[in-house]
Amino acid sequence: MGNNARVRFAPSPSGELHVGNARTALFNWMFARHEGGCFILRIEDTDESRSDSAYQTSLLEDLKWLGLAWDEGPDIGGGYGPYRQSERLALYAEHLKKLMDADLVYPCYCTEEELEEERRTLILAKRMPRYLGKCRNLGGKEREALAASGRKPSYRFKVPQTTIEFHDLIRGPMRFEGEAMGDFIIVRSNGMPAYNFAVVIDDHLMAVSHVIRGEDHLSNTALQIMLYRAFGFEEPAFAHHCLILGRDHAKLGKRHGSVSVGEFRKQGFLPEALINYLGLLGSSFAGGREILSRDEMIGAFSLSRASKSGAIFDEDKLRWLNAAYIRNASTNDLFRRLEPFLRASGYRPETLDAVWLKNVLEIVKGELTTLAEVGDRIALFFDERYALSEEAHMLLTAPGAREVVGVFGDYLKRAQGDPGDIYAAAIRHAKETSGARGKDLFMPVRAALTGQLKGPELDRIFVVLGLDSARRRFAQVEKILNF
Ligand code: GLU
Repeated sequence: MGNNARVRFAPSPSGELHVGNARTALFNWMFARHEGGCFILRIEDTDESRSDSAYQTSLLEDLKWLGLAWDEGPDIGGGYGPYRQSERLALYAEHLKKLMDADLVYPCYCTEEELEEERRTLILAKRMPRYLGKCRNLGGKEREALAASGRKPSYRFKVPQTTIEFHDLIRGPMRFEGEAMGDFIIVRSNGMPAYNFAVVIDDHLMAVSHVIRGEDHLSNTALQIMLYRAFGFEEPAFAHHCLILGRDHAKLGKRHGSVSVGEFRKQGFLPEALINYLGLLGSSFAGGREILSRDEMIGAFSLSRASKSGAIFDEDKLRWLNAAYIRNASTNDLFRRLEPFLRASGYRPETLDAVWLKNVLEIVKGELTTLAEVGDRIALFFDERYALSEEAHMLLTAPGAREVVGVFGDYLKRAQGDPGDIYAAAIRHAKETSGARGKDLFMPVRAALTGQLKGPELDRIFVVLGLDSARRRFAQVEKILNF
């Protein structure tokens, strides 16, 4: 590694990877790559009730799919492991002991009900809800009695009544009053470490230099700084980026539509497009450029360019970018990526001629917004899926259209040779014989050939379909329209 910049992405496996978290991962990854530093993946799974190993698997898969490769992590190890918090419990116990020995921590025997009651009373009195320190000054005898009654203690940190100040690399100077915060739990009564405690120990032991995460963690940072100071650990630099918001400016959630990386993946978004979009969101690149490769994003990445105010998630913009990535992808690359989507739409790619299918993709790729649309888009190239749409049927019943189709179809019956030449000659012949031109000439041909009124360029379709298929379709139309 080129320098000592060490950053981490530390998801809790309590759900599918949300695009907001993916953006946090991306920021950390871009920072590490820009600095020539190290990108760590750490799994924060100490909240057993909310952690699920299936989510852990999908998190890793989604990050890999996005191309955000980590240098140290639970699956590949590294010099600072283990990288799953559930495997670091001895370290937390050791550190709890240090704080206990320094008299900076005390056991708290309050029950959930008692704490809830305190919260309610404070809220009613219009005071900030927080723990008022009931167990802070219990005597030894009182503690023994509570323990003997079967109560399991949690451990609370004695919050110093000082002001916590720090400089955030995105938001500038920040200030939190210790007085406003109650003594917080660092180890829960089930023995598991609380988030703020575990994260400080891990970030310190893993030599994390920069903590880059969402602004929803700002107040946690104040608590974490208290712990850094209590341990005498050097603090990392902090950068809190804005959150992704829906159009209504509320935090992006399920009610806004798709929010997980997995959903976008299933809908046929390309990882490059999603990464590009998330990189663009809430920051801007030189010259207003919008389509950037990973390397360009890494080169241009700077925390100082990240915006402080929330970034609105614009799915239309993401779709636009996705369409551009599909359009610019090589047909061979698309061919490989489209395979599961073709299967999902009922095609059997292994039964199709690969060269022919690539020719089809070449023609339709400019019209795809997502990979999942491929089934509908290529249907017109399959005789067994050919059907006249209602609009196409309507259009073909007009006398002028019938004549064009009749003349064009007759020409095809006699034609021989190269399909490209035949198409051009058939159009010329239909134009001369029927007198139709422009839309009046091309729309009936399109309607008969494809069953639809819109689609890719007709000459390209004709060449890929070939003469036999074109003949069959015109014959079918003649039958349907009782020529
Ligand atoms: N597990 C925490 C979360 O997913 C990590 C926050 C942090 O980066 O410190 O929100």
